Amino acid sequence: MNTPTTPDATRHDAQPGNHYDYVVVGCGTIGSMALWQLTDIAPGASVLGIERFTRVHTRGSYAGESRLFRVALKEGGIYIPLVQRAREMWLEMNARSGRDIFLPVGAVSVGPADFPTMVQTMKVIEEFGLDHEVLDSAALAERFPVFAPSAPGAAADTAILDPAGGGIRPELAVAFAQQFALDAGARLWDNTRVLSVEPGAGPAGATVVRTDRGVVTASKVIVANGSWAADLFPGLAHHISVQTIPLTWYLPLDITGFLPQNLPIFMRDIVRDNGEIWHCYGAPTLDGYSVKISHGDFAGDADTPDGLEELRTGVLPEEITRVFSERTSTFFNGMLDAPVRISLHHDGFTVDHAPVLGLVPGFDGTLTVATGMSGNGMKFAPVYGRIAAELAVTGESAVRPSAFDYPTTDRGPSPAIIPATLH
Ligand SMILES: Cc1cc2nc3c(=O)[nH]c(=O)nc-3n(C[C@H](O)[C@H](O)[C@H](O)COP(=O)(O)OP(=O)(O)OC[C@H]3O[C@@H](n4cnc5c(N)ncnc54)[C@H](O)[C@@H]3O)c2cc1C
Repeated sequence: MNTPTTPDATRHDAQPGNHYDYVVVGCGTIGSMALWQLTDIAPGASVLGIERFTRVHTRGSYAGESRLFRVALKEGGIYIPLVQRAREMWLEMNARSGRDIFLPVGAVSVGPADFPTMVQTMKVIEEFGLDHEVLDSAALAERFPVFAPSAPGAAADTAILDPAGGGIRPELAVAFAQQFALDAGARLWDNTRVLSVEPGAGPAGATVVRTDRGVVTASKVIVANGSWAADLFPGLAHHISVQTIPLTWYLPLDITGFLPQNLPIFMRDIVRDNGEIWHCYGAPTLDGYSVKISHGDFAGDADTPDGLEELRTGVLPEEITRVFSERTSTFFNGMLDAPVRISLHHDGFTVDHAPVLGLVPGFDGTLTVATGMSGNGMKFAPVYGRIAAELAVTGESAVRPSAFDYPTTDRGPSPAIIPATLH
């Protein structure tokens, strides 16, 4: 493990008016990784990250204690090599930080064997030869007794175990990616809002980055401002919609079966008698107290992530409690049915759920945008940060799918890509 500098050692000595080789706008999930990767690909270059809020905060798409990581992704195709590379990088982060940023507890998908996502996941597993284990209902009940049996008459549950899956501690991931960059000489301005990014507007064609702290110029800029994409690129509002996503935590009477040594991160689908599908996802208990169980089929539109503030105090928590109480006790044995914690989050979704991760055409490779992570960006974050850094430094990235191009026309649902879902 490297010994990190003190967290604040190099944050504030960047000066307005300076020129940087690389500026990263937004140092959340993808931006923090891009900052780190820039220092790896271009050692000795001057690198500045600019973050609107504090160094880590509760307002980004990464907030909320845990994120799910899977290798056996039903989305398959282009996403499998990316997530395999990401896993190596998560383990590298664990080794460097000495912290459990990535929790290698595996992932389990529970549902009827003929449920479309179960069938699709098995197809991807076979296509890519991925490690896995299939559990029938008896084996599932024995191995993971916390899952309640489906309602009488419902199709028997089966499970697919993805041993390479796990959990991610998102706030820690952002903090350490920033820290690795700081340790390598990058600068970070927090509490600084970027007001505009103007390619070619500076001396010798440099990009001007205007902030509420002053102006800097840069040879290359990566914009990774998440759900706020349209603040700096209004045209992206047409391609990316911001959705609110609640997270909920519940209280089991007996915590044993929910401890990380006994339960992987999980996803479950139940087909009700009336044909209705209930979906939940979550993580083993991380505080030894409550369990994150969230209901993926609930999302609302928020015009802007800042609009969430209204919802935080609005009627939504009551609605969540009402709608999901019955579901939670149907999914799990011994779980009290009202949430003990609710938080509201957001992410920017593209039409085909593939991220925007590319050079903006027309600016000679000086401007890279990474946004529209579509409820799925955490697991890929180190590799997406790497791609953004490669694009900024060399103008290309061998592992970047063209499906991630900056949209100049409507993307539309792509037949080549199975849309990724939340988590
Ligand atoms: C509830 C929920 C559950 C999820 N579950 C999963 C999961 O299980 N697995 C998974 O892989 N993914 C999951 N995701 C998706 C994943 O968390 C997001 O896709 C990812 O965090 C998005 O990263 P980002 O860098 O685009 O945005 P952010 O992490 O929000 O980063 C954007 C940063 O830009 C900053 N910024 C914005 N505007 C400016 C400005 N003008 N100037 C300076 N800085 C600015 C913001 O403050 C922020 O720090 C989930 C998302 C949510 C909301």
